[in-house]
Amino acid sequence: METISHWINNQLSTEKSERTGDVYNPATGQVSAKVNFATTATIDAAVDVATKAFETWRHSSLTKRTQVLFAFRELVNQNKEQIAALITKEHGKVLSDAFGEVTRGLEVVEFACGIPHLLKGGFSEEVSTGVDVYSIRQPLGPVAVISPFNFPAMVPMWFFPIAIACGNTVIVKPSEKDPSAIMFVAQLLKDAGLPDGVFNVVHGDKVAVDALLTHPGIKSVSFVGSTPIAKYVYETGTKAGKRVQALGGAKNHMIVLPDADLELAADAAINAGFGSAGERCMAISAIVAVEPIADKLIEKITQRANKIKTGDGTKGADMGPLVTKVHRDKVASYIAAGEKEGAKIVFDGRKVEVDGEGFWLGPTLFDQVKPSMSIYQEEIFGPVLSVIRVKSYDEALKLVNNHQYGNGTAIFTNDGGAARRFQNEVEVGMVGINVPIPVPMAYFSFGGWKNSLFGDSHAHGTEGVHFFTRGKVVTSRWLDPSHGGINLGFPQNT
Ligand code: NAD
Repeated sequence: METISHWINNQLSTEKSERTGDVYNPATGQVSAKVNFATTATIDAAVDVATKAFETWRHSSLTKRTQVLFAFRELVNQNKEQIAALITKEHGKVLSDAFGEVTRGLEVVEFACGIPHLLKGGFSEEVSTGVDVYSIRQPLGPVAVISPFNFPAMVPMWFFPIAIACGNTVIVKPSEKDPSAIMFVAQLLKDAGLPDGVFNVVHGDKVAVDALLTHPGIKSVSFVGSTPIAKYVYETGTKAGKRVQALGGAKNHMIVLPDADLELAADAAINAGFGSAGERCMAISAIVAVEPIADKLIEKITQRANKIKTGDGTKGADMGPLVTKVHRDKVASYIAAGEKEGAKIVFDGRKVEVDGEGFWLGPTLFDQVKPSMSIYQEEIFGPVLSVIRVKSYDEALKLVNNHQYGNGTAIFTNDGGAARRFQNEVEVGMVGINVPIPVPMAYFSFGGWKNSLFGDSHAHGTEGVHFFTRGKVVTSRWLDPSHGGINLGFPQNT
């Protein structure tokens, strides 16, 4: 059986691991590979390599960096199908969705290709007589990226292209559940001409994460995952003096106002609720129906859901399996909890019939969900949609704003004034207006509010460039014959 090892200094590590993890094909339920787990010694070795590579890479010209990134872009484009196939094999999402993930990641690479422009500083001439001031942004050093299972290629790509473009070196710790896609990407970076040690991958669990969080050689941590771990990573990393951005979990609301186009809203609810089997941090999981439209909307969603084919993502299914058996069982236990708490099941994914031993769960819809129920309070991260019926826009807004999470949200309406009020009043980081999954383009920044983000920097866009650089301001004077002699007062620039 294949054993996936670390990628350090542009080559596969030959280190023997005492601890390994099983990687599954979720559509067959079979173990497809083993993955080596890093020890603190592995992390030390990776940081040493990244530290050494930084000494040279930080001085590489902007032209050299963009040449590598442009070449990498071409290689990813040429190998999209292969990367998507690896994602589907280990994550389970359908091939078209995996392909879309690679495409969205590529947008960040394209953004990073513009780094010469993005790193331009400001310059003020003659701030005082004969004195100029200018600002520059410099790389941090070796940086860590710790990513979740649900986007094994795209989430690392939110960070490393910009980090590398800014002159940093990178260590990625991908999810141990689907580690192969990023290994393929590592090879492509090498093929694109990225020097040894600039991009490294270490596999593992808490041991690897803790070692990265506390290693003095790591200068920043970009984390994406569940909220409890995001909070832990933020607290531990910042305590160790690092810059940390930690993106956490979500519960995304879709508000449907009575004047909305219900066909569009039903399509959106299906796509955003059940796409990737609900394993997206921007998935819609709570539909807030402003009466009197709930019955009609539920009817339209049900008609569509009946047509969804759950099955192997490589064989033309609409929705694939969940990532592991443990996760499938956890999501199913939320369905049981919702039933027990008094919500009404409209259709039940536990009854889905698919051949084989995959981690299957079909789409589920709850009606009559109350804000106090666990299926509303907590992130489920599976194909489970809840409908909460409310009487007014104000009641809907209050629900969203009172929720612990604030990653994404959407409003469906034909009333521009209501939509504009919503974008202003809602306490959520990413807002869609008749758009169910408002993932920003790479030149904007991605990130939530409240328990969906710890730290103050969102991913990519200009916030990404700022996160991966430190600002410096230089005040310069080239001596001329008229320098003013001794003056102990603070300069007043008059
Ligand atoms: P997770 O928190 O279990 O794992 C994320 C990473 O942390 C993995 O690399 C994992 O190995 C590591 N990890 C797990 N337990 C740890 C521990 N105790 N100590 C240290 N490190 C640990 O998340 P997941 O299940 O892989 O991913 C799903 C979660 O990610 C969901 O909550 C989802 O909402 C969230 N997510 C958020 C965003 C966002 O942008 N906000 C994007 C994608 C996913």
